[in-house]
Amino acid sequence: MTDRSAYELEAFRGDIDGIRVYGDPKQVELRSRDYYWYSPILSEELDGRVGDIVVIPQDQDEVRRVAAAAAKHRIPVTVRGGGTGNYGQCVPLEGGIILDITRLDRIIAIEPGKARVEAGARIARLDDAAHAVGQELLMYPSTRRIATIGGFLSGGSGGVGSLRHGMLRDDGNVGYVKVMTLEPEPQIIELHGPDIQKVQHAYGTNGIILELEVGLTRFTDWVHTAALFDSYLTALCFALTAQETGLDCYLLTPVERRFATFYQKFGERFPADRDAVFAMVAPAEMGRFEKLAKEFGGAVSFAMSKEELHSAGLQPAYECGWNHTTLQALKVDKSWTYLQVAYPRPFDPELVIRQMERYGDDLYMHHEMARLEGEIQIFALPLVRYRGRDAMYEMIREFQELDGCDIYDPHAYTIEDGGMKEIDTAQIDFKKRADPYGLMNPGKTRGWTPDMAVRA
Ligand code: FAD
Repeated sequence: MTDRSAYELEAFRGDIDGIRVYGDPKQVELRSRDYYWYSPILSEELDGRVGDIVVIPQDQDEVRRVAAAAAKHRIPVTVRGGGTGNYGQCVPLEGGIILDITRLDRIIAIEPGKARVEAGARIARLDDAAHAVGQELLMYPSTRRIATIGGFLSGGSGGVGSLRHGMLRDDGNVGYVKVMTLEPEPQIIELHGPDIQKVQHAYGTNGIILELEVGLTRFTDWVHTAALFDSYLTALCFALTAQETGLDCYLLTPVERRFATFYQKFGERFPADRDAVFAMVAPAEMGRFEKLAKEFGGAVSFAMSKEELHSAGLQPAYECGWNHTTLQALKVDKSWTYLQVAYPRPFDPELVIRQMERYGDDLYMHHEMARLEGEIQIFALPLVRYRGRDAMYEMIREFQELDGCDIYDPHAYTIEDGGMKEIDTAQIDFKKRADPYGLMNPGKTRGWTPDMAVRA
């Protein structure tokens, strides 16, 4: 643990003179948080952890000056994009500098099939700019409005669009990353192809991402829609068939009826006696979507553009999916928390029903149809009634041991205890190069031990 009295914050401030900073404790506290409060376990562990100063560089040269001064004075650095991570990724465990990267937001180039952009650009701005030239992002998190593209690479995994294009780490989704090292004389490292994995989902522990190139595809004016069914099993089977038969969707999100209470704005579009599949469907495929819903005994309850939904006071379909589903519930009732589940392949919908029976009122189901490594992969983000840490880990054990599911634990703040499971030695080797003093987001990877830090 870094001793805060050991670093010279005033000397650091002197070295970065002219660069915008916030030292006001309220501002610093605000920017020391993310959405870790979804987890009562993380709240217990992370509440009260704050940085010392927020620094907001305006361009890459200012980032270089901040990196150099932080390294010189050996001050911990937590990079912050939109601050929408769920696992305390943006919470500084050892104080220090919050490096707010959101002014580094230039869209450098949009070409056919790809965009080069600075890391702090908001995803919505980038996607909207791609729309303007007839293209769109391959995928984005449901936090599209606030999250940054660099934060998505460093802290996210996939989301809306993953149904078509796989998860973020799958081949071809990110083509290039430009990283700055944290040293008295910061270096630039350029990563291409598989080398990008060295910084992907590394929680900002091994270098400051300055720029990246992400894949684009042809723009589709998605219809935001939902179909309703008599049972959750039917809703799941419908969504699976839609996916297996190649219906052109960007999102397919089965949500069981007990969620309807958290979606009251939708009224009869999602009533409490029906299970829903929220979707984004290509306009040319709406006929097939409706026909398939009918074949499963269901019906489409609304089909609108994003603008029409907005005018009706409703959120787009993607804010009914992924972790926004959890957010809708938490807005109403804070006694819930959640899990992240990857189902064994091939997916067996009956397993879900057995899980629902096992946990009764303590678990509400919500699934995401996606792809991973070229294959169909079904995830769930169920709401879980919080009954203490032991009960939570007992449930996790049952999902894993009884059902063969993988859990990406959202109640843990290290990379390894969350989704990655094991230490990624390539990421740690890269950290030795990009963060030789071990200053970046300390405590977030179990793979780094103090003896690895350069002493001089
Ligand atoms: P931040 O939270 O600011 O940062 C995330 C991590 O990346 C931190 O460790 C930070 O230090 C590091 N970082 C940020 N920028 C840089 C940089 N330039 N260089 C180095 N490190 C950096 N995630 C998904 O994957 N899919 C979803 O669908 C999804 N839905 C969500 C829904 C809700 C309601 C919420 C609250 C979260 C959701 N998330 C989801 C998690 C999160 O929103 C995304 O991962 C998002 O992309 C994070 O971007 P951000 O800019 O907010 O990153």
